[in-house]
Amino acid sequence: MSKLAFQKTNRVFNKFKNYSWIMVPVIAIGGMYIPKLGLLLIPIMLTLMVLGFLKGKYWCGNLCPHGSLFDKILLSVSPNGRIPGLFTSKVMKVAFFLFYMGMFGSRLAKAFSYWGSMTFLDRLGFVFAANYLIPTIVGTTLALFVNPRSWCTFCPMGTFEELAYKLGTFTGFNRKTDKKVTSAQPEKCTKCGKCSRVCPMQLAPYRELSLETNQFNNVDCIRCSTCVYNCPTGILIMANAEEASQYKNYRKRSIA
Ligand code: SF4
Ligand code: SF4
Repeated sequence: MSKLAFQKTNRVFNKFKNYSWIMVPVIAIGGMYIPKLGLLLIPIMLTLMVLGFLKGKYWCGNLCPHGSLFDKILLSVSPNGRIPGLFTSKVMKVAFFLFYMGMFGSRLAKAFSYWGSMTFLDRLGFVFAANYLIPTIVGTTLALFVNPRSWCTFCPMGTFEELAYKLGTFTGFNRKTDKKVTSAQPEKCTKCGKCSRVCPMQLAPYRELSLETNQFNNVDCIRCSTCVYNCPTGILIMANAEEASQYKNYRKRSIA
């Protein structure tokens, strides 16, 4: 696929994703002056963990303030080119996760040495805000010169979601809550590749559907529904495992 093959389609926005980008300057820049703003990231990170366990990277595609910034503000000015293979590699994901969490952990440890003092909450908030500034600067730069969602391919919070999701899948807790891209009628797929060209993460659902369930099981899918809304044949849906199996049974009955 050439560099120009990726299309800038409208991404899918819910009410929260439409405006959640506002939290980026508030926390990342505001937090430099009012450090306690960084504490807002504690409930955000907890929500992200729970959602990761139940719904994979749903947070990234539907709620994340940085994701909203990339899709709502930066997509229009981004070259929207191919995301380099280095960014999407496992090595990059693991190495950046260890680097970022190591840095975050050592800053947290320093902040906690002020536990009980008047400045503790300010120091703690500053650590969170400073760590939020990293995706803001790196993600924005990559969006302006490469692709809006480059950062999301190795974002440490995305890696956290992935780990939580693996636990949710292993325990079977997310069977009903995890809605994945699913083909309701795979035999009608024309292999036009549009689902891949519009995908912000540059994945290829039509080439990777499970033969068993017709579901797209790629952990990097951010459940943004962009492919669902852009498939010209309208055969893609977001469905959990049970819903997907009903479609499969329905098709079997129709064919018989
Ligand atoms: S956009 Fe729809 S028809 Fe085209 S390849 Fe993807 S699933 Fe198939
Ligand atoms: S495969 Fe579809 S739902 Fe998943 S990230 Fe790509 S466009 Fe979004």
